[in-house]
Amino acid sequence: MNKQPLDNQDFELIEKALGAFTSELPKDWHGVSAGVRLKSGHIETGFVLECENPILGACAEQTVIGKVLEIIKQDPIELIVAVRERDETKYKVIPPCGRCREFITDYAPQADVIIFDKESDDIFKVSATTLLPFKYQAME
Ligand SMILES: [Zn+2]
Repeated sequence: MNKQPLDNQDFELIEKALGAFTSELPKDWHGVSAGVRLKSGHIETGFVLECENPILGACAEQTVIGKVLEIIKQDPIELIVAVRERDETKYKVIPPCGRCREFITDYAPQADVIIFDKESDDIFKVSATTLLPFKYQAME
């Protein structure tokens, strides 16, 4: 796995994702946000889509990909991060779940993903495809 250091723009994406949390949300259960930076530099954020029935939720990475879906063919996602508001770690960055790794590699296979490794207390970015070896492929 090729770990790359973050630059100032990458840390800015983390800050934007964290800054998206607001009391304007209809419920107090949207505790995860994700941010994407497109090739143009445009940044978008989205929230976990929680539901009273917990098995029906959609992760923040999925909602933010949905928000940029109509423009990523011309302006692809180059970086994605998810943050948990209540996480007590320094950066609040959380790794994408397995389901999101499928979404990310489907819609942004060229993107990097910001990862915080609690064991080493290190933050870095890696290619999305390295997070999902032997990706699912539908049989034809
Ligand atoms: Zn997920």
